[in-house]
Amino acid sequence: MSSGAINLCYCGSQKSFETCCEPFLLGTSFPSTAEELMRSRYSAYVTKNVSYIIETTSPKFRKYYNPKSILEWASGSKWISLEIRSSSENRVRFVATYLDENGQLTRHEEDSRFEKIADRWYFMDGK
Ligand SMILES: [Zn+2]
Repeated sequence: MSSGAINLCYCGSQKSFETCCEPFLLGTSFPSTAEELMRSRYSAYVTKNVSYIIETTSPKFRKYYNPKSILEWASGSKWISLEIRSSSENRVRFVATYLDENGQLTRHEEDSRFEKIADRWYFMDGK
């Protein structure tokens, strides 16, 4: 990395990765809002941080997620951008744009639900 260059965060926040999602991915701090969690999970897909995806999924829903298929999906996709459409305390609507494993431009629009357990935010499900 060239000195002085700002390494913008993958999540599109226009903040540097070091001051945005990286501390969450490293586990040195925790998202204080559902939107921050959503953004950090997107960055986790980009950086193929499968354990972060699993750990930040609500324990009730974790059984539906398979680390191997998360890794395959994260690796097979070329992540382009994240746009947050709206967010409230426990919901985030977003559009993630990526090239799928066939190079097809794909827009994934989702309305995600989150819950807070013992002061930590978790992803529940999306539709
Ligand atoms: Zn970020």
